[in-house]
Amino acid sequence: MTENIKGKVVVITGASSGLGEATAKRLSEEGAILVLAARRSDRIEKLANTINENGGKAIAIPTDVTNAKQVQSLVDSAVHQFGKIDVLLNNAGLMPLSAFESLKVDEWEQMIDVNIKGVLYGIAAALPYMKKQKSGHFINVSSVAGHKIFAGSAVYSATKSAVRVISEGLRQEVTPFNIRTTIISPGAVKTELLEHITDSDIQTANRAYVGNVGLTPDAFARLIAFAISQPEDMDINEILFRPTAQEL
Ligand code: NDP
Repeated sequence: MTENIKGKVVVITGASSGLGEATAKRLSEEGAILVLAARRSDRIEKLANTINENGGKAIAIPTDVTNAKQVQSLVDSAVHQFGKIDVLLNNAGLMPLSAFESLKVDEWEQMIDVNIKGVLYGIAAALPYMKKQKSGHFINVSSVAGHKIFAGSAVYSATKSAVRVISEGLRQEVTPFNIRTTIISPGAVKTELLEHITDSDIQTANRAYVGNVGLTPDAFARLIAFAISQPEDMDINEILFRPTAQEL
């Protein structure tokens, strides 16, 4: 097992599919205790059962990250059940890409609510515990799109840039409390992320591209394990990764 993961209490938002699900599986193999959050309770309950049947430890807490009270209750439940929170992986997110002229204002709002406010609610819920513990680790999921803008990505890119800005500001402020912060910016990975694109041309093009070059979610999970497993005095601040074949 990798150093420094065993026994850690790790809360993962967006654990019902894709990157969050793969990370839960990976970290459970490394001995972490998982607190799984997402809206689809059937999925996270099934995942928790599988982890527990395989000798790991996991609980599922249905959570909508756009609801600050639910996010607080998620973190409170983790601490109540396991006595601490070591890592919060703010991973829940969505990417309904579209051109501005399509005026998909509801989708812009959804992205702001989930991708930005969801992360902020996670910070608000976990920071007081981590401060008191004098330890903890926030891992916030940005994107290559948080570094680059392309046609159709502006609002998504804005939310993922915001995640980077929030994380760096947080990093500077929480150093006195021995809290680590990591920004992880994935390139193309094969998950359900493209399912929520409502512009069919953009969806088709992205499906073809990610289908061709996309990595499997374990690539992300390995990097999360790498960041968590570093000695406590070492903070992996930022990880940017892409499939080797990805140009953008
Ligand atoms: P998926 O669509 O497979 O997973 C998204 C997860 O977010 C699901 O578990 C979903 O759960 C959860 N989620 C969405 N809305 C909410 C909500 N309101 N409350 C709680 N959970 C929510 O995509 P990925 O695994 O790819 O995405 C994970 C993260 O990675 C996202 O932040 C995404 O932006 C980022 N990312 C992904 C890349 C990729 O290529 N796959 C590239 C760069 C970044 P549920 O619907 O059950 O609530």
